[in-house]
Parts: sequence; structure tokens; C-alpha cells
Amino acid sequence: MLKEVLKHIEQRNSFLLTSHARPDGDAIGSALACCQVLRSMGKEAEVVLRDGVPRIYKPLPFADSVITAEQVNGKYEAAIILECDSIQRTRLRGLEDHFLISIDHHVSGRPFAHVNWIDPKAVATAEMVYRLAREAGVTVSPDIATCLYTAVLTDTGSFMFQGTDEHTFELARELVLAGADPVHCARNVYFGHSTAKMRLLGAALSNLHREGPLAWIWVTCEQMEHAEAREEDCEGLVNYALSIQEVEVAAFFRELPNGSFRVSLRSKGQLNVAEVAAQFGGGGHECASGCSLEGPLAIAVARVVEQLRSHPSVQ
Ligand code: 5GP
Repeated sequence: MLKEVLKHIEQRNSFLLTSHARPDGDAIGSALACCQVLRSMGKEAEVVLRDGVPRIYKPLPFADSVITAEQVNGKYEAAIILECDSIQRTRLRGLEDHFLISIDHHVSGRPFAHVNWIDPKAVATAEMVYRLAREAGVTVSPDIATCLYTAVLTDTGSFMFQGTDEHTFELARELVLAGADPVHCARNVYFGHSTAKMRLLGAALSNLHREGPLAWIWVTCEQMEHAEAREEDCEGLVNYALSIQEVEVAAFFRELPNGSFRVSLRSKGQLNVAEVAAQFGGGGHECASGCSLEGPLAIAVARVVEQLRSHPSVQ
């Protein structure tokens, strides 16, 4: 399928690159790197995202060239959708009219595009972009390597999530050899938070609930406002609940202005949270998934916790 993707890229000249709304490190890093790979191939390429680049990814090379829009403006010969399992999750209007190429590593990845390269074995979509660059004969510059390394770093949970193995370190090694500075990348991601995020973390942890191997936390709109936090400040908060020794699965609930809830699920490996998220119309990976539920909070929590409780590994 890699060859098929490359063939379709070679046949065209202008590309839009995008990913899911509320982009994470793999979404941003893969899109920025893929854009530079295409430009190195002599193509015209632009990254267009529904939501802006989160603060911790702003230092990435070319991050300031990302176009934030709700609608595709202009006509491209193809749109490459990275790290995203549907057109809807991009929340970008006007993609439907384009030739679509999907590059994704989600287990819940669906073949929604004209060309679908889905490889759940890849630790990050960035790994696939790296393979694309190699196959295309493009030199991976230090800037491209920095974007890809940051994507791998974040999507593997700092090389901690299930699936991280010797190949992941081989990939990281190659990216460092290509010019990614691991210290610099890690500093931006882990020491680049806002004060608001730390205040929000305090609020979320004050709502910590434990039930054996399950832990869950939440933040309300009011708490978000009080902390002066943004949506992106919620990223990673769920990991604090998962970091408790006996906890196998953690959930984070974020209230949305319309009263519904975004849920992030994380597992240490025994329970497949992609399956749980899928029961509520979401998806993701075995150890990291997400979904949306109607409120009120007590009902949303009860529905998710009930699903988690029913799994043999947490009983
Ligand atoms: P997060 O909890 O960080 O929002 O998402 C964790 C993982 O689950 C990411 O890989 C993300 O792409 C995926 N994910 C989150 N929410 C959804 C959703 O509503 N639908 C699908 N298909 N995947 C999701």
C-alpha cells in the first residue's frame, strides 16, 4: 500500500494535508513532516487543520505555517488525511470533493478514503511518514526528523505504551541520526505547559475517584473557566490517574459547553479501551482511546464505568 500511496502522490502536484480536530503530537508532527516530504518531492503542499497548533507543539519546525480553517479554501489535487479515521473527525468542510489519501495507524482505522494505508502495527503515523520519505528517496532533514521524533515520542507516551519495542527505538535512533535533538524535543513537550494547565490538573485530581483497578477524573466547564484553561490543556491529564500503582484503566471526562462529555480512556494493557470507546461511537488504540457521551456527568460516568467494570481483567 505504501507504493500505491506514493504512486498517487507522484501523479499529482498540489496537496492539502490535514488530521483530526484537537490535534495531538502525532497529528501535528506527521502532517508537518509529510508536508515537507512532499515539498522535497517538488510538490505544492499545505497543512490545514480545524484547530490551532497546541502550545507545546508550536516550537516545531514549520508549525507557524499551519493554516487554521473550518472549510477547505481552494482546490487541491489531493488531500492527505493523517492519523485520522474519518473525514468527520477532521471537522474540516469541503474535503469530500477531493481525491483522498488516508495514512493512519489506528486499530479502529476505516477505509473511508480513495486510497487507504492503515497500519496498526506502526507505533505512530509518523513512522509511516518516515517510511514514505524513505520510499520516495527524500532525505530526512533535521527539521523533518524533529517533527517525526516528537510525534513518536508523544504517541508512544514517551516510549512507555504497549507496542513500544526494539523497532521503536530503532526508528527513534534513525530520527536522531537524521538530526532530531531528543533533549530539545522532550523539553518542548514536557516542560512547555501553561500555568492554566497546572491549575486545571489540580482541579481534575481533586475529583479523583478510585474503584479497584479503575480510576476516573473530570473537569467541568466552570473549572476550565476558573483555571483559564483551554481545551488543549486537558491533553494528558488522564495519565495522572493511570499513574496510580494498582490502576489498570483510567478515564478522564471533560464537560463541553453543550453539556455533553468528551472521554479519554487509557489502559496499562490488560483491557482494550478501543473496544470500550467503540461502544460509544468512538475509537482509538488498545491502550488509548476516546469517545463522546451525553451528560449529565453522573450518567456519563456511570455508563463508562459500567462498561469497564464488566471486563474480566478489572474484576
Ligand atoms: P484522546 O483521549 O487523546 O482524545 O484520544 C486518544 C486516542 O483515541 C487518539 O488516538 C485519538 O485519535 C482516538 N480518539 C479519541 N476520540 C476519538 C473518537 O471520538 N473517535 C475515534 N474514532 N477515535 C478517537
